[in-house]
Amino acid sequence: MNAMIDRYAVFGHPIAHSKSPRIHAEFARQTGQALTYEAIEAPLDGFPYAISAFRAAGGCGCNVTVPFKEQAYQLASLRTDRADAAGAVNTLRFDGPDILGDNTDGAGLVNDLVGNLDFDPAGLRILLLGAGGAARGVGLPLMERKPAELFIANRTAYKARELSSRFDCYGGGYDALPGRQFDLVINATAASLAGDLPPMPDDIFARGALAYDMMYGRDTPFLTFARERGAKVADGLGMLVEQAAEAFFVWRGIRPETAPVIKLLREA
Ligand code: NDP
Repeated sequence: MNAMIDRYAVFGHPIAHSKSPRIHAEFARQTGQALTYEAIEAPLDGFPYAISAFRAAGGCGCNVTVPFKEQAYQLASLRTDRADAAGAVNTLRFDGPDILGDNTDGAGLVNDLVGNLDFDPAGLRILLLGAGGAARGVGLPLMERKPAELFIANRTAYKARELSSRFDCYGGGYDALPGRQFDLVINATAASLAGDLPPMPDDIFARGALAYDMMYGRDTPFLTFARERGAKVADGLGMLVEQAAEAFFVWRGIRPETAPVIKLLREA
């Protein structure tokens, strides 16, 4: 590895299938930034050590994914508001003795909605399905767009209520949904990974609603369900590229163009 080139990486477990190295290589090429970006699988019990080894070897910053986002939050000595709101960190920047922890997932989702999909959540009724790591990351940035309402529904209802008190919105179980309609329904559950569909009523989508699945790379039961009920649909590939662009900005102070990279990944 060339010692003169700034090093970045994504840490996860597993990590082999991550698209982040490809995305950041494109950003670096496009903006003329000299940097490398690799995927590193940290041992499940060795995340802090993997980070300090990377720092000692000249790493400038990194992304963090499942299952280390909460540990990354603990590791950070400085945190952004959106990282604090999430209680999870997906972006670290090594600033001398300090480690800045940020969470760019929510900005990634909002930038995809507003910038790529022309769907501004301002004034709309939003239903967020799931109360795990992904849902935590997007709550504050969604609320900052001033929706008419944000309701968080989760299989384990108390987790949704806990999360909703964090974001000053509403939350509960799926049994609270019958009779209600939403303009934007975001699937932040891991149900799609298992080919499952979160239990939504048939008439959950308001006219003109958008169904957004954070999962990407394949059609999901959630998107099929939504399409069959007349909703517009989008997968999470745009969010993935946008959260990466936001992290790139945190590290380099330059905002790469996302549209060509989204197109490239879609065609791949
Ligand atoms: P977590 O494991 O932290 O959370 C999983 C959530 O899904 C929980 O709320 C859980 O409910 C719920 N859930 C799991 N299975 C089902 C089911 N069969 N029916 C209903 N609810 C279910 O996962 P993450 O939050 O980290 O990830 C969620 C999804 O978001 C993944 O598909 C991931 O790939 C995607 N993602 C996409 C990103 C992007 O950039 N596009 C970024 C981050 C995540 P309970 O609490 O009851 O167990």
